[in-house]
Amino acid sequence: MIDEEFELRFPSSAKLYGRAAGCLPSGITHDSRNLKPFPIYIDRTDGAHKWDVDGNKLLDYWMGHGSMLLGYNHPEVMDAIHASLARGTHVCGCTEDEVEYAEMVQRLLPTAELVRFTMSGTESVLLAMRIMRAAKGKSGIIRFNGYYHGWHDAAAVGSQPPFDIPSSGGVPAEAAQSVISIPPNDIEAVRNVLDHSSDIAGVMIEPGGGANGVIRPDVDFLKALRKLTQERGVLLMFDEVITAFRYSLGGAQEYYGVMPDITTMGKIVAGGMPGGAVAGRKDVMGIMAFSGDKKRDRFERAAHAGTFNSILPIAAAGITTMKIIERGEAIPYANRAGETLRQGMRDVLKRRGVPGAVVGECSTYNAFLGEEIARGIEERDVETIMGARGPTAMLMRKAMLLEGVDWMRTGGMISIMHGDAELEFTINAFDQAIKRVQAEGAI
Ligand code: PMP
Repeated sequence: MIDEEFELRFPSSAKLYGRAAGCLPSGITHDSRNLKPFPIYIDRTDGAHKWDVDGNKLLDYWMGHGSMLLGYNHPEVMDAIHASLARGTHVCGCTEDEVEYAEMVQRLLPTAELVRFTMSGTESVLLAMRIMRAAKGKSGIIRFNGYYHGWHDAAAVGSQPPFDIPSSGGVPAEAAQSVISIPPNDIEAVRNVLDHSSDIAGVMIEPGGGANGVIRPDVDFLKALRKLTQERGVLLMFDEVITAFRYSLGGAQEYYGVMPDITTMGKIVAGGMPGGAVAGRKDVMGIMAFSGDKKRDRFERAAHAGTFNSILPIAAAGITTMKIIERGEAIPYANRAGETLRQGMRDVLKRRGVPGAVVGECSTYNAFLGEEIARGIEERDVETIMGARGPTAMLMRKAMLLEGVDWMRTGGMISIMHGDAELEFTINAFDQAIKRVQAEGAI
C-alpha cells in the first residue's frame, strides 16, 4: 500500500515532521507542500535532482517553483551569486547592478519600457494592481475565475471555487469589492462588466492559461481582450510570473504575439533568488515616478518601497540567468522536453486505458487522472478543474515519490537539466505510479 511504503521510505521526514508540527503550522512553509501523513523534507538539490533528509535521490519537477529553468545550482549562476556576496548582501543604496538588471529585462521583454523590482511574484501583482489603479484613477480590476495571482488579499478573490468567496479566511470584504472575477475566455463577459461600470482600471490574466495552463489558454480570447481593453481605455496586465523567460525569451507576450500594457514577473527573473519585477509602458509605469509636484506626488503617485528589492545576490542571479537564456538554447530545449514528456504521459494513459488528461504548454505540465477531470479540462469547466487536486492527486503524488519523482501537486516545470534519461525515467515512473494507484482502487 502506498501510505505504508511511504512511511518506510521517508522515516527521517516523518520524524522531522514531528518537530516541524511543533513550530510551523502543518509543519510547512508553503501551502502547496501540504502532504498527508507528512511532507518530505529536503536536504539539498543539484541539476534536476534533490536529496531528502533520508538520502533518497529524487528527480525534481518543482524546480524552485518554476524559477529554475537552468536547473539547480547552475555553475555560472552560483559563481555570480558568490562573487556578489563578496561585496555584501545589501549595500543600502542604488547600484549599477540594478541598472544592468533593469536593462536586461528591458532588452528581453517586448513591452518593458520601465522596470521596478520587487521581492516576489505576489508583490509584483500587488504593485501592478496599484500602478493600474493609480494610472487610471479608478479602482476596479477584472480578473478570471481559477487564475492564480499570488496569495495577497486582492488576489484572493476568484482563485478558488466558489469564486465569489475569497480563497482564504481573514480577507476583508472590502478587499474583494473592487476585484471582479468572471469566467475566463468569454469576451462578452468582459464587455458586460465594462458596459456596466465606469470604474475599471484594468484587466489581469495569466496569458498562458489559468493556474499555470491547467485552464487552457485561448489566443483568440487574448487578442480580443487586447482589442477590447484598448478600445475602452482600460489597462491590460499579463501575469508572467511563470511564463516570462520560459515560454519564449520575450515571455508569453512574444510567444502569443499579444502585447500587454504592464507585466508582472517573478521566478526566473530572479534566477532562483527571492525576487520579482513589474515592467510596462512608460506612460503607465511613469505613475511611480516623482514629479516634484507635491500634490501629485502625495495623492496620485503609485508609491512603492521594499527593503530587499534587487539586492546584490538577487540581481546577480537574475542577470546571469537571463544572460544564459539569451544565448538561445535553453528555452527551445526545455520546450521540446515538455512536448516529449506530455506525449509520453498521454501514451501511458492510453496504454493503461486510464481516463485522464495531460495539459501544459512549453516547459510546463500537469497530469490528472479520472473521467471527470478529463471532461472538465476538455470543456474548460473551471469548477471541476479546480476541484481535481483532491485525494487521488495526493495519492498519485506519493506514488510518484515512491517511484523517485517529486512533482508539484499534479505536475511541474522542466529545466534544461532534464535530459533524455530523466524524461524516460519520469514516463516510466508515471506508468508505475498509476499501477500503484490502480492497485488501491483509487482510479
Ligand atoms: N502569479 C502567478 C501566475 C504565479 O504562478 C505565482 C506563483 N506560483 C505568483 C503570481 C506568486 O508568486 P510568488 O510565489 O513568488 O509570490
